Amino acid sequence: TRQTETHGFQTEVKQLLHLMIHSLYSNKEIFLRELVSNASDAADKLRFKALSDSSLLSDDAELYVRVSADKDSKTITISDNGIGMTRDEVMSNLGTIAKSGTAEFFSQLSGDQAKDSRLIGQFGVGFYSAFIVAEAVTVRTRAAGAAANEAIEWYSRGEGEFDLKVIEKAKRGTDIILHVRDDAAEYLDEWRLKSIITKYSDHLSIPVQMPKAADEEEKAADKKLEWEAVNSGQALWTREKADISDDEYKEFYKTVAHDFEDPLLWSHNKVEGTSEYTSLLYIPKRAPWDLWNREQQHGIKLYVKRVFIMDDATQLMPSYLRFVRGLMDSSDLPLNVSREILQDNKITRSMRNGSTKKVLSMLSKLAKDEPETYQNFWNTFGTVLKEGPAEDQANQEKIAGLLRFASTHQDSSEATVSLDDYLARMSDKQDKIYYIVADSYEAARDNPALEIFRKKNIEVLLLSERIDEWLMSHLSEYQEKSFQAVTRGDLDLGELEDNADKEQQEAAEKAFAEHTERFAKALGDKVKSVRVTNRLTASPACIVTDSNDMSTQMAKLMEAAGQ
Ligand code: ADP
Ligand code: MG
Repeated sequence: TRQTETHGFQTEVKQLLHLMIHSLYSNKEIFLRELVSNASDAADKLRFKALSDSSLLSDDAELYVRVSADKDSKTITISDNGIGMTRDEVMSNLGTIAKSGTAEFFSQLSGDQAKDSRLIGQFGVGFYSAFIVAEAVTVRTRAAGAAANEAIEWYSRGEGEFDLKVIEKAKRGTDIILHVRDDAAEYLDEWRLKSIITKYSDHLSIPVQMPKAADEEEKAADKKLEWEAVNSGQALWTREKADISDDEYKEFYKTVAHDFEDPLLWSHNKVEGTSEYTSLLYIPKRAPWDLWNREQQHGIKLYVKRVFIMDDATQLMPSYLRFVRGLMDSSDLPLNVSREILQDNKITRSMRNGSTKKVLSMLSKLAKDEPETYQNFWNTFGTVLKEGPAEDQANQEKIAGLLRFASTHQDSSEATVSLDDYLARMSDKQDKIYYIVADSYEAARDNPALEIFRKKNIEVLLLSERIDEWLMSHLSEYQEKSFQAVTRGDLDLGELEDNADKEQQEAAEKAFAEHTERFAKALGDKVKSVRVTNRLTASPACIVTDSNDMSTQMAKLMEAAGQ
């Protein structure tokens, strides 16, 4: 039973390893962040499991991560006394990529180094990043609750395969031993390691320890290694805002969001009152690679009284804000909370409402204070935000204020016009917000229905994204002004129409009565009716819909969906 077995990596692992070694060489040091963060996760998982089975901690209850380097053997060792792994867990965690969306990730790789390395970063380089600096990696692990002779050793050179064997391991937890490549020898220096740990892992709540520098005498006496913590060991979000520097917030973001870049903005709040919680919410600069996957994208971690409970707590953030990253730490939820309990829970609901408002107001403030930065945000995440008015009726007005549109006021397809801009330009006689939805910006801009609006100098919003029809069917009003599609048949311009217009219209109707009848006959049941209009100035005819009917755009969508 003590034999070594050799297993092949899943194809995707081979690909990922290859990509990582070849595109992340300029950012080598992140291997330590990933491995220390795994060790810290292992401690979190053990603590959580021990809530229901305290014997798991046995006599080794002080959880830690230890990092050391040995220049002679050219190894770096990262050890923890966390939850460890069973043989099956080693097989799947260190032999496959179990993440959902893996295929989609690989399909998005472009071969462009900078782009791909960012994508890999967002995908989560994780454990395999060890191979950026190591030519071979040994993992020795013993699961909590398992006997000393049930431990597992995993070894791989990061090529096609890995070896497994059963070993003896005195203590619970995992040792990761990196056999460092010659071109990464700089990381064998403990000072260097220490500075990387303080940069990335200072905020972890678990102590990260390194050997205390021994003097010559102690070395000669071959004394046992003494360890000291090199991080501050306090969870960042539990500290006072005033004591946390921007750099600390940024580094923390990179760990929680697996991003290489700084966040766009963040908000750290301690909420007291009916429910008590701390939230630390970040808005990324760039879209994650799987932003369009509605199921996957929830980046909020849930903690209860500083104990990590789960990743991707979908209940804590509405889907239209799924690009937000960060965490919430509740003082009220029970530690044994499950996804089912979260589903319908007063506390969760209040955390979700509170943080939704927080994110929306953070964005409104950005839009006001830094319109250019907001525009970048909009270009990246705007389409997702457009799901908001349908999903979150209660915050409709706020979300509407954040929307940006193309419009007839400007000569560009870029969506830069806000509803406030639109209202500010509106004449006193106008009481509606006019818009058109079409397949493309050009189709919207060139639609004959706009002719009368151009003539009367009335601005019209030009919408052409797939989601726009859905959006407009849920947006009823903004600042007490209702929305009106210009392609509706019974369009009434109200006070914008003067008497002359009306007289002209009546005269035209009379004069063309015979023609409209002939048209109606020729078109048969293809149309509901044929009318004379004063809306066109350059085109002879246009197609419109009744206000109660489905818009042509919606009809197309339904047809595409097979309805
Ligand atoms: P992630 O941390 O995003 O899940 P990783 O590639 O970093 O992905 O790690 C893969 C998995 O391997 C982890 O989810 C965890 O189950 C396991 N693992 C990695 N390192 C450790 C460790 N030190 N102790 C226990 N399990 C670990
Ligand atoms: Mg990890």
